[in-house]
Amino acid sequence: MRRVFAPLKHLDERLRHALLAIGLAALGLLMSLFDPIDQLVWIIHSRFVSEQASGQIVLASSDVDFTDPNRPELRVSLARDLEGLREAGAKRIFIDAIFDPSADPAADAQLNATLRGLGDRVFLARRSYTDYDNARTTLASSPIVASGVPEVITEFEARYLGIDWDMPTVLATKNGIYPSLPAAIANIHTTRPSTFAVDYTFKISSIPVVSIVDHSRTSWAPVRGNDVVISLARRSGALLAVTPRTADVPHAIVQIIAAETLLAGYGRELPSTLAWLAAASLLLAILAIASRWGSRVRRAGYILLVGLAFTALVASYMLHVRISPSSAFVIIAAYALSRLRLHWQRRFALTDQASGLPTFRAFERYLQDNRVSNPIVAAKVHGAAQMLKALPSESFSEYTQKLVERLRVSDKGPLIYSADGRYLAWEAQGSDIEQIRGHLEGLRAVCASPLLVGGNELDVAITFGVSHAPDRTAAARIAAAIATVERTSEAASPIEFEHSTSEDDDLWDLSLQSRIDAALANDEITMVYQPKMTIDRASIIGMEGLVRWYDPARGEIPPSQFIEQCETAGRMAHLTRFTLDRAMRDTALLAAHGLDIPVSVNISATLLRDERVVIMVEDALRRMRFPAEKLVLEVTETASIADLERAKSVLLSLKQLGVKLSLDDFGVGAANIEVLARLPFDEVKIDRMFIRNIGSKKGRAIVESLVTMGLASDIAVVAEGVETSEDLAALAELNCSIVQGYGVHLPCRIERLMAAHGLAMKSIPNMV
Ligand code: C2E
Ligand code: CA
Ligand code: CA
Repeated sequence: MRRVFAPLKHLDERLRHALLAIGLAALGLLMSLFDPIDQLVWIIHSRFVSEQASGQIVLASSDVDFTDPNRPELRVSLARDLEGLREAGAKRIFIDAIFDPSADPAADAQLNATLRGLGDRVFLARRSYTDYDNARTTLASSPIVASGVPEVITEFEARYLGIDWDMPTVLATKNGIYPSLPAAIANIHTTRPSTFAVDYTFKISSIPVVSIVDHSRTSWAPVRGNDVVISLARRSGALLAVTPRTADVPHAIVQIIAAETLLAGYGRELPSTLAWLAAASLLLAILAIASRWGSRVRRAGYILLVGLAFTALVASYMLHVRISPSSAFVIIAAYALSRLRLHWQRRFALTDQASGLPTFRAFERYLQDNRVSNPIVAAKVHGAAQMLKALPSESFSEYTQKLVERLRVSDKGPLIYSADGRYLAWEAQGSDIEQIRGHLEGLRAVCASPLLVGGNELDVAITFGVSHAPDRTAAARIAAAIATVERTSEAASPIEFEHSTSEDDDLWDLSLQSRIDAALANDEITMVYQPKMTIDRASIIGMEGLVRWYDPARGEIPPSQFIEQCETAGRMAHLTRFTLDRAMRDTALLAAHGLDIPVSVNISATLLRDERVVIMVEDALRRMRFPAEKLVLEVTETASIADLERAKSVLLSLKQLGVKLSLDDFGVGAANIEVLARLPFDEVKIDRMFIRNIGSKKGRAIVESLVTMGLASDIAVVAEGVETSEDLAALAELNCSIVQGYGVHLPCRIERLMAAHGLAMKSIPNMV
């Protein structure tokens, strides 16, 4: 049953990453942040695929500025050349230039007469562009040149990077509706405004060019039977534009490329960016769910996804259909990044920070992957905990390294794994028990002399435990080896072999010690919250954080099993730091969604022996910017308070921070009236044992007297472990006003609490 949690949790995590990625992409899309990525895809298209121009459109370019108002004679030359081009067989002529009145009205009139004379075989192009202030400006030639001449329009609207990617077929301006120059060339006649995607795959050098006005150099042969676009050359001051292939080409070139696009039947676009977003999201979600069927399916899915993306891209290039896949790219990239980050975190968990050796988790993996059946040896380094505190960390790591060198005997020795440097473990070289014993005795002899670390001689005290039944999970085998080494003693029995395999669970407990840090780093430890409610169950007035450990192999491990182990291993502070942070983060999240309640965090009384816990809480409050008055510390395990005065001074320091204090499990063990009287608590929680017995005289009396005492001394009284409606009724009768228990509200994850309050779940980054 417990095992079902493990895959669910991982599914959760993949979906979480997918949702995060989708959210990011949607946000970026809204802000059109990814436009450059789409443009990049199109630029690659125009470099990757090269098309020849049809040759049906010829650029006639002039090295002198025939529009110069101070050189009216050039207009006369232009008029002459128009006739000439006509005679050379040009089909239609489009003049992409703007004429202001010149110094010589006669020259203008002559040009106008020539233009009119050519009838509908010549067109003047107006020019429309969007200015820096987003206002649209249209330039047109003066009537003295243009009147009676058919007109088309060119449009220029550069995106980021300076490229104009879309052009209209017709454009409505203040002065009327004009066909665009490319549409006119391609004989597309429409009055309904539409745009098309300019296809920049046409090689500019394949567009035929002739010279006009000053045309001594080239022949006009290419114009026969073709359309001609007249423009100034770059050196004579043509309007310049940017293409994906070249910067600064005459604007007329871009118009010709646009016309070629229409002639070739290109210019289609798969319009919806949203469709891409949806498709990528769907694919990712499917992948996240499909991961259930194992890593092979997932990997195949990834390959398929990349393959699909690549095929779609190449197909769009070949078919000359423009696509805008940036949002899909971003989703996939963001997803990949979050996965990668987690991967690194996991890898980190595979190396022991204290010793630099691979961790027991890595050992577990090694045992699984290689189906190791040899016995497993665990070694306990006595005094490692003290050494870890006393030595600078490099020295400790050096100490462990040297010890490991001795244990391996030679480079061919087994790879040695470590948990915090306190335990070491490896695979025995062979399965013969007597041989292993002999080898370990040899190792004890080798390790007997002190190690030289940083100029100091350090004694080595090491004992060995061996587990040999291979038909269990890797974790259980390591656990068994550690449990066995725990039974050793330096003097009497330095080498022990596992007795039986029936005590699996006890063994497990021991191995938890070595796993807690990795579990925290791997996000295996989380919090659930159990609300405290008013007796009528109408409102939530607080909640208690309860820690949960979902181990991938074992499923859910209850706190009763690992809190104690945590204490033994000296990792309590580490765990508490985590629970404080997580509880504050979740409470802040809940508050942001409208449910602003205090949160209780369980603090083991073992932490009240010195002031370090005060610094820890203060630091957490500051780091999380959490209001102190919303934090309640529930003191559990009061039996471990040896020195009440000491504990009192620590608790007073905590109170100074502004946090509230609660005495947990009142009535059992050492959590008694004396403790309540002498220590400064704001709240007391009546242990569930009394609530279970509330039907009895004694149970009733205790609850009743506590409620009375609470009222008299301003201490809030909470009944915990309330399971039935009878309990509730009895408590109501006794005027107990705050209740907690499975019958009131089950412990649940923060998302559930938010959902129960009609609040949308916000996607929150994984912060461990
Ligand atoms: P506790 O502080 O007395 O927490 C209440 C325990 O009783 C929780 O079990 C909760 O799930 C359970 N419970 C709640 N309502 C009912 C009910 O109606 N009936 C019964 N039978 N049980 C109920 P859980 O989560 O297994 O925690 C067990 C103990 O582990 C806690 O007892 C607390 O002492 C310790 N613990 C849990 N989380 C933490 C933590 O983050 N830090 C520390 N130091 N200790 C923790
Ligand atoms: Ca508690
Ligand atoms: Ca309790």
